[in-house]
Amino acid sequence: MHPTANTLVQLQELLLIRDESKISSGTTKLEKLDKSVGAMSKELPQETRVLFQKLHKKDPSFIVPVSEGVCAACGLKLPISLVQEIKLAKEIYQCPSCARFLYFTLAMPRRVGKGPRRSEPRKAGVARFSAEVLMIPRLEAKTRDAAISELAVLMGENGYVDNVDKLIDEGLRREQIMTTAVGHGLAFPHVRRVEGGGLTLALGITPKGIKFGPGTKDLTKIVFFMVIPTPASGFYLKLLAGLAESFSSAAARKALMSAKTQKDLWKVLIKETRSTVK
Ligand SMILES: [Zn+2]
Repeated sequence: MHPTANTLVQLQELLLIRDESKISSGTTKLEKLDKSVGAMSKELPQETRVLFQKLHKKDPSFIVPVSEGVCAACGLKLPISLVQEIKLAKEIYQCPSCARFLYFTLAMPRRVGKGPRRSEPRKAGVARFSAEVLMIPRLEAKTRDAAISELAVLMGENGYVDNVDKLIDEGLRREQIMTTAVGHGLAFPHVRRVEGGGLTLALGITPKGIKFGPGTKDLTKIVFFMVIPTPASGFYLKLLAGLAESFSSAAARKALMSAKTQKDLWKVLIKETRSTVK
């Protein structure tokens, strides 16, 4: 990858983490992140920095992968010659349609099929992103890594993603940058840059609680694991905001924790997010 593209990818990740932290925990004390963002922006060539700031104002994803010759954000089929140039990475390229920066990548986790069929009625609310089969009322996991694996494997087994190992690796890598655990025993681990499909959410409950991050005092009891395709980056923040809002209520968390079966957990999730996830 071109060094500038590499800096942009890392910058994008930090900025998304900053947005997530603000949304999920209301934290505004993010000096360390802000510092890294500042330092990294300074590394960019002047022209690229101006462009990046302009693009970032419009959308959280300003640098996206090219996969199978297509811009992962807007879906434009790129000329073969441009794809070749992006692969060689001698300079930094932009999508001719959406203007986002582009980089070449191989082997991303891929979402396979399983979207709602055309004949099915249009779903609303959280049902657009999840399903009863993606609920675990009692996680077997006793650690953070095991919890992420358990939820990722469930998505794989039910045909929502392939390359589950890669999904787990990416989920754990994200936790190393900054924990996704927030107050109230909630955590929002996730994997971005998944190819194809839509946003997918799995939910696992562990009433005993597990230690999710080094800096978090509370044990995590409610784990929302999300897989986020590039074009859904912005929407993911809205879903995160909805979930954080719903489950800032102690009664709502208690309802999740009391669900004993997949079916009950699914019902509670739908009910509690009815007004926050649209
Ligand atoms: Zn594009």
